[in-house]
Amino acid sequence: MDYQELISEVYQEVNELDLRGKVADYIPELTKVSRNRFGIALIDLEGKVYGVGDYQVPFSIQSISKVFTLTMVFHKFRSKLWSRVNVEPSGNPFNSIAQLEYEKGVPRNPFVNPGALVITDALTSKFENPTQSIRDYIDELAGQHCVRINEEVMQSELQHAERNTAMAYFLKAYKNFDNDIPEVIRTYVYQCSIEMCCEELAKAFSYLANDGYSIFAKREILNESQSRRVNALMLTCGFYDESGEFAFRVGLPGKSGVGGGVAAIMPGKFSIAVWSPELNEKGNSVKAIKALELLTDKLKFSLF
Ligand code: GLU
Repeated sequence: MDYQELISEVYQEVNELDLRGKVADYIPELTKVSRNRFGIALIDLEGKVYGVGDYQVPFSIQSISKVFTLTMVFHKFRSKLWSRVNVEPSGNPFNSIAQLEYEKGVPRNPFVNPGALVITDALTSKFENPTQSIRDYIDELAGQHCVRINEEVMQSELQHAERNTAMAYFLKAYKNFDNDIPEVIRTYVYQCSIEMCCEELAKAFSYLANDGYSIFAKREILNESQSRRVNALMLTCGFYDESGEFAFRVGLPGKSGVGGGVAAIMPGKFSIAVWSPELNEKGNSVKAIKALELLTDKLKFSLF
């Protein structure tokens, strides 16, 4: 399979479709990015990089960071983690608070905001310097210093953290939150404010395509069974309340973020990251989803 030809073809076809969406505006900082940005990077399991368009331009990874923090915490707590967070798709928006009440303070999954807050709380319990640890961990996964923090995004998110803070208090009321709430919120906002480019993101995700072993970190990040579970969660819960649609149209485990990025993997073959800032009404990048749909249609193999 000629991956360079494949992604170049996909890139061109998506551009010709002239798809439109809306750049995230829940914080003013995110609206500043140019709506025409579009890049794709694919990394095979030998570490060879294939890229097209803006694949080396950093962008706000936002919720994609939830996969990295989940990995850090899952590795430490192992299956004990699942008493604090469930593994069911939510069918609700990522920042919905209502479900938390029905579920008695145990979030639906680690990728909705309450679930991600529980994960960041667990991380705070295990790592002395949580923000530095997140940064070092992602750098190691990508095999290079790549994590940058967008200070403006971070400040902006901190000023609009009411909803996440409310969720954290709610979790605390159900005794599913151990650490100081403002500290955990700061760490959560820090992880959402990370900027990386498609190439770095695809490298950092590569362990999930490779049974948990990172060729960039040169070590096992998760064991095979844990890595399979993170992939199952990405397949069922990785795309907000559009996860079913993504599985149906694309059929790859992946995670999106409101910065317009999507990182996904084909087990045993490759990891891929696509970025384009315009989002559909569910918060997923219009072009990135189309690109991955075309790509999986053109591939001679699939997950299923
Ligand atoms: N920083 C966002 C929030 O917690 C994450 C948005 C996302 O990518 O889902 O509201």
